[in-house]
Amino acid sequence: MADLPLVTYPNPQLRQVVGPVVDFDVPELSALIADMEQTLRRAKGLGLAAPQVGSAQRVVLVNTRDGMLALVNPNISERSAEQETGEEGCLSVPRVFGLVSRAKSIGVQAQTAAGETVTFRADGLFARVIQHEIDHLDGILFIDRVKKFTGGSVLLKGMWEKFLPHRTGKTTTSKH
Ligand SMILES: [Zn+2]
Repeated sequence: MADLPLVTYPNPQLRQVVGPVVDFDVPELSALIADMEQTLRRAKGLGLAAPQVGSAQRVVLVNTRDGMLALVNPNISERSAEQETGEEGCLSVPRVFGLVSRAKSIGVQAQTAAGETVTFRADGLFARVIQHEIDHLDGILFIDRVKKFTGGSVLLKGMWEKFLPHRTGKTTTSKH
């Protein structure tokens, strides 16, 4: 197992739409998941997507109370109409935090490292982390969805305003 270096913004690798895993039950996939687990544990994050460690594969990890959950080729099959706004950060966008609205509850379909299909429902923070991580597989970062930045200094907020012309949606920045 290796502790992998994190790819950080604005590295263009984070903007790639990555392809599905086609080979299951192979040492390469197990090794990627093991390395991601170690990396996530060390970074003390809630979730990690393969592009954040430089791998162009549809693999995400979620750090749950019951341990690390690896999802291969994850898809959101259903989203609740009800949304919830919560604060997010990202290991690839250090020291930046903001409020993001996400579906409160989702249906997830994914595969295990062995290629078995799993389906489950996720709510609240668990649903939020999964939505955040799947976004990474499509080259989307939470800063694209931020409604309001909450962390960091005013200087940092000014920097984001300047360097994120591609960001969609309205952002309110407050000085305090
Ligand atoms: Zn992230």
